[in-house]
Amino acid sequence: MTGAAAAGQTPEGPGPLRTDLHTHTAFSDGHDPLGAVVKAAEAAGLTTLVLTDHVRADTSYLPEYVAAVRAARTSTPLRLVCGVEAKILDTEGRIDLPADLTGIEHVALADHRFPLPDGPAHPDAVRALLDEGRLTPDEALRLLVLATARAVERVPDGRSAHVAHLFSVLPKTGLDESGVDAELLEPLARACREHGTAVELNEKWRCPSVRTARLLHRAGVRLAAGSDAHRAEAVGRFTWVAETLAKAVTEDRWAS
Ligand SMILES: [Zn+2]
Ligand SMILES: [Zn+2]
Repeated sequence: MTGAAAAGQTPEGPGPLRTDLHTHTAFSDGHDPLGAVVKAAEAAGLTTLVLTDHVRADTSYLPEYVAAVRAARTSTPLRLVCGVEAKILDTEGRIDLPADLTGIEHVALADHRFPLPDGPAHPDAVRALLDEGRLTPDEALRLLVLATARAVERVPDGRSAHVAHLFSVLPKTGLDESGVDAELLEPLARACREHGTAVELNEKWRCPSVRTARLLHRAGVRLAAGSDAHRAEAVGRFTWVAETLAKAVTEDRWAS
C-alpha cells in the first residue's frame, strides 16, 4: 500500500476520500450549524460535501435547509450536495421521505430499522423472531438485502443516492455478516450497478465489513466514504474507511 492508508487521511488522499457522502448539521441531529460543517470540510481537504440531514415523511424543515445550502454555495469552493438521510421502511423498499423533495439532490438510504414485509421492525422485535424460530438468519439477511436493493430502485427521479451504513442494523438484532455471500448480495449489487448507486463505507459505525465491501467491489459496485459526522470536526476524517477501502479493492493483499 506504500503509505496509501496514511495518505488517505489527508487532503492528498485518493479520490473517494475527498468526498464525504454522509454528514449532519443542526438542521437535524448534528451538533454544528451548516457553516461550521462546510468550513470543516474545507479544512479536511474535501472537494465534495454531501449534506444528509435526517428526514421522515413528516419533516418540515426542508425549504429552510435547501435555502441554507444554496446560500452556503456562494462562499465555498466545495461542491455542496443537498441531500437527506431516510430509512428504508419495508421489503418493498419504500423510503421514509417527505412528499415534497424540492431542492433535494441526493438520498442516503439507511437501515435505521429492520425492513420487514409489514414495515420497519425494531431490532429487538427481529431478535425475538429469530429466537422464536419464526425467522431464520439467512432469511433475515435476504430480506434486508432485498429491501435495500428495492429502495435503490425507488429513489425518486432526478436524485442520486447511496446506501448508508449497510448492515449497521445487524449487530442490534444479534446477526452478523458471516452469512453474507456474493449470491445473497447480487440483488443489491445489480440495483447499484444499474442506478449508479454507491455503497458507503461508514466511519462512525465501521460497516460494512471488509469482506462484504470486497464482495461488492468484485460485483462492480462503487464503494464510497461517509463519515456520518454529527460534529464538524469529524467531517471528511477517514481512518477506518481508508483502511477498509484499500483492503477491499486490493485483492492480493486481502487474500491472506
Ligand atoms: Zn443513519
Ligand atoms: Zn447519518
